[in-house]
Amino acid sequence: MKRPKRLRLNLSLTSVIVLLAAGVLLPVMLSTAVGIVAIILARDSGGIITGVLVLCFTTAAAGSALIAVVLTAQKARLARLQADFLANVTHELRTPLSAIRLYAQTLQSDLFSRDPEEAAKCVATILRETEWLDVTLNRVLTWRASARGVLPLEMVDSTVSQAIEDAVERFRAMLRPDEVALSVDVDTEYVVHHDPTALGAVVLNLLTNAYKYTHADKQIKLSVRDESESVALTVRDNGIGLAPSETKHIFRPFYRIRPRDRSATGGIGLGLAIARELVNRHNGTIDVTSREGKGTTFVIHLPRAGATP
Ligand code: ADP
Repeated sequence: MKRPKRLRLNLSLTSVIVLLAAGVLLPVMLSTAVGIVAIILARDSGGIITGVLVLCFTTAAAGSALIAVVLTAQKARLARLQADFLANVTHELRTPLSAIRLYAQTLQSDLFSRDPEEAAKCVATILRETEWLDVTLNRVLTWRASARGVLPLEMVDSTVSQAIEDAVERFRAMLRPDEVALSVDVDTEYVVHHDPTALGAVVLNLLTNAYKYTHADKQIKLSVRDESESVALTVRDNGIGLAPSETKHIFRPFYRIRPRDRSATGGIGLGLAIARELVNRHNGTIDVTSREGKGTTFVIHLPRAGATP
């Protein structure tokens, strides 16, 4: 039996808005004119009341149409964000997974049974890729917890050295040997009220971004210094940089800069949003300065414990 053909309307958001505007705007304009004419030509109070009622009705209709347009646009934007986010997360998980499968299969095939050095390289790659997987999954889970307001921080009073050291160690575990010229210069004695795991995640995110948004000859500098009433953590890279118009958006959740030559760079657009949220919860600030084609510098300031805010 033949199925009846369904009429499928594939309308874009713009056409929906145009349709709504045309379908509502014209009648609204007409009834406004009618209302005004009715008031002008009114001979008695009945005529004035009719005119005012028509105008009230028109205003209500126009208001409802405006709300409908705004809600439709918002819903479409959310759907697009959700679709992009899912695609990005899938891509971010699939890339390391494919590498892990490939290297595990190579090990299984016994190809390197007589070459322990190559086998060790295979295992190292598998471990590196699992680190990237772990970082992505943690980021999604942290974002979910923070969006629901259930991200607990375990605060301690100490210098931030240990948190920095842990972040650097994890970062190194994600890199091939000699892939990055990383310089780490930690010179701090101030006590800071902080959650070492959260702070480590923030620093790791800045380091992985510095890695991702830098071409060959990657040079990354991490420094920690005591300033008057705060500790300054600086991550500087020699990467692709940011245009001035882009810097003010990069801390927004799900914001990713669309390709010019960035198309191959993975990411889910949550790292800096999480970083800002966590730094705020430490009563700190995070700032960025950048020059396109020259590099980017992120600076986090965390107040010294006991300092006047
Ligand atoms: P993503 O997962 O996309 O890296 P982030 O929130 O960490 O998400 O960063 C948001 C955007 O800011 C990135 O997509 C990238 O375009 C830009 N960005 C972040 N860090 C750097 C950097 N060090 N150099 C240049 N661009 C950067």
